[in-house]
Amino acid sequence: MAIKAVIFDWGGTLTPWHNVDLTELWLGYASVYDPDNSAELAAKLDHGEQSRWTRQFETNGEIGTGALEELFHEVGVDTSSPLHHQALANYLSGWDPHTFTDPDALPLLETLRGAGIKTAVLSNTMWPRRHHEGVLERDGILHLFDYLLFTSETPSGKPHRTVFADVLYNLDVEAADAAFVGDRIFDDIHGAQSIGMRGIWIPHSNIPAKQSTDLGITAAATVQRLGEVLDVVNGWNS
Ligand SMILES: [Mg+2]
Repeated sequence: MAIKAVIFDWGGTLTPWHNVDLTELWLGYASVYDPDNSAELAAKLDHGEQSRWTRQFETNGEIGTGALEELFHEVGVDTSSPLHHQALANYLSGWDPHTFTDPDALPLLETLRGAGIKTAVLSNTMWPRRHHEGVLERDGILHLFDYLLFTSETPSGKPHRTVFADVLYNLDVEAADAAFVGDRIFDDIHGAQSIGMRGIWIPHSNIPAKQSTDLGITAAATVQRLGEVLDVVNGWNS
């Protein structure tokens, strides 16, 4: 068995983890959409978002977070208004400093692809595809993927098997011939290994122990930085 595809998580994996103030980021939205009630709206959006992530975790990914659009509707935002589009742009640009790609990514992806190995992204996210693609393009790596799956477009999220199966199907690779690289031991590693892929864990994100080390999940491999994924894959393929 050789590794024919490597699939990457995005946040905390292709882009290094940052601790961010989510309420502050939502204020970037609310201060544009409804300046008079911005603190209240930001709190509602923050709470609504967190509830969706909690539900996704607690249902083992079966019920995904949905897209930002659904969250906005839930809190009564008019998503057809020009103000909403300005507010959303302000919100997403508030994230920009936290989205830069790990410098290891470009050489790693080029080397894998040079060896004939397919590459993909599978990200649990509420953001629109166009925003993710813009970030990957800005950092010069968008063209280095055969397939991108964002769970803002799917009913379920990681660790649910359907999203991993979707990526494998679109890459035309069997689970046993694929590796998954991620920073979350439950969503990424447990999810991927549950359908027969090999998980490569990068354990440097600030994730609560009850969603991580407490679960007693063992990854097929653990690396200290993204570039070391190449050594692991080469080892498995030698
Ligand atoms: Mg992640």
